[in-house]
Amino acid sequence: MTDKSETVLPKLAIAGAAGRMGRQLIAAGLKGGFHVVGGSEMAGSAHLETDLGVLGGHPAIGTQPSRDVGVAAEHADVWIDFTRPEVTIAALDALKETSVRAVIIGTTGFSPEEDAKVAEAAASMTIVKAGNFSVGVNVMEALTRLTAARLQDDWDIEILEAHHRHKIDAPSGTALMLGDAAAEGRGAPLSDLKAAPYDGPSAKREPGKIGFSVKRSGGIIGEHEVSFGSEQEIIKLSHSARDRSVFAEGALMAARWAMTQGHGLYGMDHVLGFASD
Ligand code: NAD
Repeated sequence: MTDKSETVLPKLAIAGAAGRMGRQLIAAGLKGGFHVVGGSEMAGSAHLETDLGVLGGHPAIGTQPSRDVGVAAEHADVWIDFTRPEVTIAALDALKETSVRAVIIGTTGFSPEEDAKVAEAAASMTIVKAGNFSVGVNVMEALTRLTAARLQDDWDIEILEAHHRHKIDAPSGTALMLGDAAAEGRGAPLSDLKAAPYDGPSAKREPGKIGFSVKRSGGIIGEHEVSFGSEQEIIKLSHSARDRSVFAEGALMAARWAMTQGHGLYGMDHVLGFASD
């Protein structure tokens, strides 16, 4: 008898295989029975000779990361990319020449121009992109949108985030995703409502704006809080990631889901069935 789970699981290639998330993705993929058939690393990485299984804390699987996207993706159905914006954008171009059917993007910190390139690529491939792949944060996003829509503009919306000292972009992709949801609830784009960072002698809060505060310290994996404050009441929604594996598990869920979808740009809200479009 054939093992059905074997046939429905896509074959994976993991970008940035030696990174914090790359290792988590390999670990969770192998643990979940996926075939990890390739991975990429940057030229000069000390891990180009290290077996992908070993990078994920598993026994060797006989494949090492490649500097070349085409080689890394050669046998893959899904490319999972948690690297850096310019690396992800370059990979999207190279992947057009491969067998890859879907791309899962967890990289954060894209500029509007880079976001436009992702949207353009989604015309000819299935892309799931999320600033945070955890199921909990995506539920929090839906609650943020709903709460912002129910409260008047005199409730101040403030978003706080804390991450480890190595994080490059700020505010985090997740904080911006929560900000987008709050702005959507208020019926305006975040670009219109985002408050400039409070700093200096004339840093008074403007009514109706959405404020962001950022903390970088030690090994914090990811903490987010959205608070809604009136003169008399405060509502707080908060989420704390205890382990990076939550992002990897969500990305693998997205990888399976993407195999059954047509071309287009999707979010984790589509994967979880919360999306309104
Ligand atoms: P990291 O620096 O540990 O890993 C990135 C890896 O990419 C490194 O190993 C690096 O060598 C590799 N890399 C760089 N250039 C490359 C190239 N040209 N080809 C192949 N590999 C290359 O970073 P991280 O903590 O794993 O985070 C990576 C990204 O994922 C960040 O943007 C982070 O914000 C994001 N992230 C997203 C989520 C989410 O749920 N969406 C969760 C955690 C992290």
